[in-house]
Amino acid sequence: MKLRTKTHLYSSVLFAILLLVANLTVYFIFYSLTLDRELDQILAETQQASMAIREADNNIATVELLRAYVPLNGMMRIVNERNKDKFTVPLVTSSTETVLSDQSAVFYPKRQALRIEINGKSYGFVSIPFIGADGNVANVQATKSMEELMTLLGILRIVLLCVSAAVMIPTIISSGILGGLIMRPIAAMTKTMQEVARSGKFVKLKQDGRSKDELVEMGETFNEMIGLLEISFSKQEQFVSNASHELKTPLTIIESYASLLKRRGQQRPDLFMESVEAIHSEAVRMKVMTDQLLLLAKPHRHWLLEMNRIELLPLVEQTITSFRNTYQREITLFPVGDKPLIAFTDTDLLRQLLFILLDNARKYSRDEITVKVGTNISSSFIEVTDRGIGIPAAELPLVFNRFYRVDQARSKEAEQEGGAGLGLSLAKEISEVIGAKIMLESREGEGTTAILSLPLKLTNQTGLSQ
Ligand code: ADP
Repeated sequence: MKLRTKTHLYSSVLFAILLLVANLTVYFIFYSLTLDRELDQILAETQQASMAIREADNNIATVELLRAYVPLNGMMRIVNERNKDKFTVPLVTSSTETVLSDQSAVFYPKRQALRIEINGKSYGFVSIPFIGADGNVANVQATKSMEELMTLLGILRIVLLCVSAAVMIPTIISSGILGGLIMRPIAAMTKTMQEVARSGKFVKLKQDGRSKDELVEMGETFNEMIGLLEISFSKQEQFVSNASHELKTPLTIIESYASLLKRRGQQRPDLFMESVEAIHSEAVRMKVMTDQLLLLAKPHRHWLLEMNRIELLPLVEQTITSFRNTYQREITLFPVGDKPLIAFTDTDLLRQLLFILLDNARKYSRDEITVKVGTNISSSFIEVTDRGIGIPAAELPLVFNRFYRVDQARSKEAEQEGGAGLGLSLAKEISEVIGAKIMLESREGEGTTAILSLPLKLTNQTGLSQ
């Protein structure tokens, strides 16, 4: 069953039940109150009759007294234990209820007041015991028609039925409309999702934007989600195509040198060294690139992070020394101030970050590289400065994008070094994970400074939650 039909059905049935319960309660309260009132009235009249009969002197015939008290539409009689014969008990009926005289007489030792049915008609029956002039117990019994009350109750039933019907019809219609209102956006969303699944395209919901209810919010959230999926899907597509494109170049170089070796390697030993060198450097480049790609592809929460309070200076010194030995480049370290230089960070990730910055300084400059380490009120910093080709101001915000390289021709020299445009994007992700901030200051033709600010204590700014 569809949700719309369900809500429609449930709300209508629930309302019908509530209405029925309310109407039945009203009806039965009214019924019992009016019945009690009617019986009380007959009881009072019968009591008066019984008192009159008891007090009457024997001269007045009992039948005369009964005639004086008989109800307008009913019967009054005197029944005693011995005389229960319907033909001999003293009895008077009103002209409209003569049939009542056929009713057999029953003696009741206790007072009675109840509703009875005779020939399908309703009557109020009251019996009051009293001690007669002869000293015997007898009953004064009155039977009074309650047809008027029954007609009134019949009218009440019809009124309640009509009112219920009048209330139910608009309720059923409005609950149907309400169900439709609620279900329309959900149905539209389901249709859109089916379309997305079928076509593979990221389709958004059409929002009329008139109201601002929860369903509209749900639609907006759905559209936001589709937007995010679209962005991440296109980023992924771009990433995969960039990665395969970047890997193609070293693979082509390796393949062509390997075929050269195969064809002429034995006849031309001079080609041997050149080919091996090229194959080796391309293999190294590919290795670095795949390592970076793998790290970038991993969600942050899968990175192994070990945050500690560390002394910055030894770590920076160590990194510089190993870098200097690998690349034979002049690097000068300037510790600023005489305070201990502390940072709260992950040693391995910070070392990797420094390597990326030093590597860029090395690739894009020939002069000496300087590294400044210091601390201020809220953070420690490491600055890596080179006096190289610099980055044009317009491209500064873009260099952190994956695979972004400033003007290919300009970087030709660096191309040989194996830059794939991944270093800075990886540096940015690492700094997010360790709660650091990275900034670049650069002037084209003059040089570049990469500034890293590191937290002094534990903050909740690490990006592992992503
Ligand atoms: P790559 O591996 O190509 O160096 P990066 O992401 O590290 O990739 O850097 C992106 C681009 O930013 C580089 O291709 C280069 O053009 C430019 N760049 C980065 N660092 C420097 C620097 N210190 N001096 C000049 N240009 C730089």
